[in-house]
Amino acid sequence: MKISVERARCEGYGFCEQSAPTLLRLDDEGELEILLEEVPAAQTEAAEAAIRVCPVAALNLADA
Ligand code: SF4
Repeated sequence: MKISVERARCEGYGFCEQSAPTLLRLDDEGELEILLEEVPAAQTEAAEAAIRVCPVAALNLADA
């Protein structure tokens, strides 16, 4: 699975980072960085949790 962010939607709230800190990180400018685009199977749940907590639905998970 691949995780991606729709930059135009992302408001930099950072909730996703708290749910999946190994996959997502806000940089010093509040820009979301995707640390691991290819989500390891063991982290699928964390990726799904990050998607659920994003208040503006900016994250997507798709089959690679
Ligand atoms: S929770 Fe959503 S809006 Fe906030 S940083 Fe993550 S992707 Fe962006």
